[in-house]
Amino acid sequence: MVFGIARRKTSSRKEAALRSFGADTRMPTLAIVLDLIRERGAVSRVELADATGLTQATMTHAVRKLMALGFVHEVGTMPTNRGTPRRLLGLRPEACYMVGIQFDLYSAVGVVVDLAGRVVVERRMPAPGEREPETIVAEFAEHVRAMLDDAGLTLPQVLGIGLATYGPQDREAGELVVPLPTPTWVGYPLAATLEAATGLPVVIENDATAAGIGVQTLGGSTSSFAVVFMSGGIGSGVILDGRPYRGVTSNGLELGHISVDATGPPCHCGNRGCLDEVAGPTGVVRSAMADPALAARLGLGADLLTDFLRIARATLDGDAAAAELIAVSTQRLAVATVTLVNLFDVGRVVLAGNAFADIGPVYRDALQEVLDRSVFMRDVHTVQAELAGDVTQAAAIGGAAVVLRNLLESPFAEQRATAVG
Ligand SMILES: [Zn+2]
Repeated sequence: MVFGIARRKTSSRKEAALRSFGADTRMPTLAIVLDLIRERGAVSRVELADATGLTQATMTHAVRKLMALGFVHEVGTMPTNRGTPRRLLGLRPEACYMVGIQFDLYSAVGVVVDLAGRVVVERRMPAPGEREPETIVAEFAEHVRAMLDDAGLTLPQVLGIGLATYGPQDREAGELVVPLPTPTWVGYPLAATLEAATGLPVVIENDATAAGIGVQTLGGSTSSFAVVFMSGGIGSGVILDGRPYRGVTSNGLELGHISVDATGPPCHCGNRGCLDEVAGPTGVVRSAMADPALAARLGLGADLLTDFLRIARATLDGDAAAAELIAVSTQRLAVATVTLVNLFDVGRVVLAGNAFADIGPVYRDALQEVLDRSVFMRDVHTVQAELAGDVTQAAAIGGAAVVLRNLLESPFAEQRATAVG
């Protein structure tokens, strides 16, 4: 078994490579080639070189490494005019599996994904709420074990766990740098503790960025696009030329903390009048609670996301007061998203996150209307608003995909290919 060779003790230098920032500065040739093979099913080296612009020599080298890792194998031949048939390459979906968990205070979603990006097991977990990190990590570890049991997988078949969550976060240390939901979460060794509890390497990732990577994994082949992620709060991510834009510490693109009212109410982030406070579930639920008749009618008073989803469903059921609140939220979010598009000049905006579970099409249509009339480059190209193929799981799937990407983009991939080849 290929992955038996790569079993690692926790806290090894190899795992540090998996988490390293340095990984992101490397040319992700292996990741690009693997994505293409996944997309095309069966493809020759010549076609891969043509599609990527890489030289034949580089492509041959990359394919050799992917075969040594056990990710790719030859699946047949294709006749050519010149007599020598071309050998076709295909993915081995069962070559390895990754676990992804997306969580915030109000939700936790887990998936096990194979090398082809297919979800083989999914699981809703209890929301962390106000509980302490050690309780949540122990719970996650139990759910990971149960998911692997459900999938019939053993640890050596699994590359690792990607935790997609809110920030600010110290991605390298595998920690959150925010006292949410309780002060003990600041600097708690989230990745290291989950590693120790499961025996699997753990990486953390910004949830909106993970959603973008999840969209790519689900088959969104556009190389540049933006993601607007909404769960308990609003975040965003940008994929440029196939790679997530990370800024210096992967804490950028915080759309929810862009001020839309410089004299507005103070936000916990230190800014005033943040989009999160006026357009996200926080703002919508606060406005709904100010209308006692509406709050009573919808049975509000649960947690933030549950209340928001009730308001969303009531909107779809024709409740005029609920619809008015959602309309304000859609317009504010859309106008802020125009800023995001104007900054990055993308041609596509994808909505993902639990908050869009039912009401996603309403936000998408409102966003499309605002994009069509107000993005700066609308006479040069259209900007398409879309929903992620799997709105509620995209970030968890992306979390899983990050584990694989980090491996492919790190020097460890070379060592590992050599070790197993
Ligand atoms: Zn803020």
